[in-house]
Amino acid sequence: MVDTETLKKQVIEESEKIFPEFKKLKDKIGENPELGSEEEESSKLLVEALRKHGFTVEYPFFNMHTAFKAVYKGKEPGPVIAILAEYDALPGVGHGCGHNIIGTSGVGAGIAASKLMKTLPGEIWVIGTPAEEGHGPYGGSKVRMAREGVFEGVDVSYMIHPATGLSQAQGNFLAVTGTEITFKGKTAHAAADAHSGANALNAAMITYMSIHANRQQLRRDANPVIHGIIKEGGLASNIIPDRAVLQMGIRSSDDSYLPTMLEMVMNSAKGAALATGCEVSFKTGMGLKSNIPLRSLEKLFLEIWDELGHPYKDPVEVAIQPPGGSTDFCDVSHVVPGIHPMIGITQEEMPMHSVQFADCTMTEKGDEGLQVAIKTMAIAAVKLINEPDLLAKVKAEFEEKRLK
Ligand SMILES: [Zn+2]
Ligand SMILES: [Zn+2]
Repeated sequence: MVDTETLKKQVIEESEKIFPEFKKLKDKIGENPELGSEEEESSKLLVEALRKHGFTVEYPFFNMHTAFKAVYKGKEPGPVIAILAEYDALPGVGHGCGHNIIGTSGVGAGIAASKLMKTLPGEIWVIGTPAEEGHGPYGGSKVRMAREGVFEGVDVSYMIHPATGLSQAQGNFLAVTGTEITFKGKTAHAAADAHSGANALNAAMITYMSIHANRQQLRRDANPVIHGIIKEGGLASNIIPDRAVLQMGIRSSDDSYLPTMLEMVMNSAKGAALATGCEVSFKTGMGLKSNIPLRSLEKLFLEIWDELGHPYKDPVEVAIQPPGGSTDFCDVSHVVPGIHPMIGITQEEMPMHSVQFADCTMTEKGDEGLQVAIKTMAIAAVKLINEPDLLAKVKAEFEEKRLK
């Protein structure tokens, strides 16, 4: 076994050597944001970099033209580390979730680690996973990849997501499902002949208010969140709307509580349909799980940040924060040991999914976040491959938590 300290120094050097290339790539993808399922240019740029550095790349991959799987084999069989890349943007706010940093840091880390694989066993994979934000037919691609065997043979998988404020290794994510509710009513003159119509907008309004009223009855320990919009609510004020559409998101830290919450939302809509004489139909999405937290992997990332002198939030404080968003990475964390740390790229807290956050990915702090993310994930790969006891500990914790 080679001394881990020597390997760490080498992998840091390799990360610094390739950094200018990846800063350029991050800015280029940042300037040309592509929505999920349409990330043609972004995926092409990342695949070109992987091929240039000697990876064998399957692209398109998994029947998705913007997905890829890149593999770099070590000197002999051994642990497989799969680093994940995202590169989809959001409508209106471009890279307001900073996925230009996720894609380039994932690919950069894979390449930096691969430079040491001549002396190490195992394999480095970089998997390009489209449409994390749910846009288009590849929405939630990691869920399907996790369910359909893409992670078979993988020992550990991770990625790093940019964030506001300080970094954190721990992910607190909610399970989520969503339903689109469509009401079908009947048009009529809104003043002269309103009694002949069936008002689909009223059905949508009653549903929205019924959900609000029922919030009080939800289990607080399950961190329930329900959010929604009225997507369609009529065409003109003098016509009784014959069609209204609500889009509702339903989240909880307890995966098993989601069906109860979904039922409440659907019953609110059914009641509203009955009250207004409309018909109602539902289109419910496949949903995402909450994550399996792995303390041993979080500890590894925090140790690396200590070694790199990178500041992070107090893990005790992070642990008591209520969970916030959701990610399709959580489904991966149910099939292989994995984590999804967040790297701070802003001076202060600010909203994500915003134009300001997209701008932050293009600043010096954004560059710094990219560089730290590349080094962190590359060092983690080398450590996990070179220290069988560490890998065994991570896998044992995963097996124990998975069985619960
Ligand atoms: Zn996002
Ligand atoms: Zn994101």
